[in-house]
Amino acid sequence: MDSALCLHNATLLTGFSVMPNCAVYIKKDRIADVYNEVRFAQKQFAKQVQMLDMKGCYVAPGFIDTHIHGIGGFSTDDADPKSILKMSEILPQFGVTSFIPTINTAPEKVLLQRIKAIVSVIGKEKGARILGIHLEGPFLSPEKIGGQEKDGLAEVDLNYLKRLLKACKGHLINMTVAPEIKHMRELALKCLGAGVILQAGHTNATYEQMIEGMQAGIFHATHMFNAMRPMHHREPGTVGAILTHPEISCEIIGDGVHVHPDLIRLLTQCKQKNQLVLITDSLKYSKTKIPSNIDLYCEHCFKRKSDDVIMGSCISMLDGFHNLIKFGIPLETAVQMATSNPARIMRQPNIGSVIPGYFADLIVLDKNMNLKMSLIGGQVIQ
Ligand SMILES: [Zn+2]
Repeated sequence: MDSALCLHNATLLTGFSVMPNCAVYIKKDRIADVYNEVRFAQKQFAKQVQMLDMKGCYVAPGFIDTHIHGIGGFSTDDADPKSILKMSEILPQFGVTSFIPTINTAPEKVLLQRIKAIVSVIGKEKGARILGIHLEGPFLSPEKIGGQEKDGLAEVDLNYLKRLLKACKGHLINMTVAPEIKHMRELALKCLGAGVILQAGHTNATYEQMIEGMQAGIFHATHMFNAMRPMHHREPGTVGAILTHPEISCEIIGDGVHVHPDLIRLLTQCKQKNQLVLITDSLKYSKTKIPSNIDLYCEHCFKRKSDDVIMGSCISMLDGFHNLIKFGIPLETAVQMATSNPARIMRQPNIGSVIPGYFADLIVLDKNMNLKMSLIGGQVIQ
C-alpha cells in the first residue's frame, strides 16, 4: 500500500485563513483530503495509515523563499552544485520547503558558472525543492548598487540576455531589473516572451519610470524600500509607485533592520495583503559562524566591514515569520506572505496552500510558533 499519513487535531493555517479542529490526510506526496474533526472521527482508515495527533498545533504550508543567496556556509556565489544541494538540505530546519536560489550580479563568466551549478541539481535535491533561478541583475542601476558587485553590472544587451536564458535552460523564474535603464523596454518584452517574471530592484526609477516599467510588464519589486529610489512628496519615486499601484506586488525583508517594523506595518496597510512576499535575502554565513577573513560582520543583519553598507540578512524564513508576528502582522497574513503569495506570484502551482491535490509540503508549529516538523512531498524531513 502507498504511504499514507493523517495529521489530525490540528489548527490549519491554510495560506489564507485559520481553521481550528482539522485533519489533513496525506497520500504519497500529495494532500489527499482536508476535513474537520467531526468528519475525521467518522472516517474509517486502513490500519497502515499513520495517525499523528497534532494536539492543537498549527499545520501550515511550508515556507517558500523566493530571494535567498545562501545559508549555513553555502551560497549560490560558490558556483558549486554541492552548495546548492546543501542549501536544500539545511532549509527544512527553518520551515522552508521550496526556494529560488538567487544569484548576485557578477561578470558574465562567473554568472554563467553560478547558473550552471543550480541548473545541474534541479530535481536532484533531497530537502527543500529548488523551484528555479532568480537572477538579481545584471541589468541594475549603478546608483542603487547596494551590496552588489559593481563590475557585474551591465547595460542592456539582448545577446547577453540570450546567453543567460540559454544557460538557465528554462529554469529562470524571475529577474531583478532597474526599469529606468536604457533599452529596458526591449529587454522586458524579451523576458516576458520567455516566461520570466520581472521585478524592479536596485533601481533609481522615478515615479514616471516605474509606471513605464509596469506598462512593459514589471509587476513585482525586489526588497521593497531597500536599494530603490525613496518617496518624496513631489516625486513619489519607486517606493511611491509601488505603494500606490495595487497591481504591483513586492518582496520585503523581515529582519527588522533592512526595513523599520513600522514601515512593514504601513506596507500591509497600503498594499493588498496578497501582494506581499516575505523573503530573507540571506547570505552564505546566515545561521552559522562568519570566518574572520571575510569582509562582513553581523549586527542584526550583515554589514560590510570596509564601509558599513548593509548587505543581505542573516535570518531564516522562520525568523522573518516570527518577526512579522512580533511587529503586529496578523498570523494568517504572515503565513500568506511566506507561502501562498510567493507561490502565486512566482506562478508555482500545487504548493503554498493546504488544499487537496497540492504537494504535502507542510510545517507543524506549536502554540508559540516553534517549528516541530517539516514535511516535503509527504515525507517528514525535519
Ligand atoms: Zn539579494
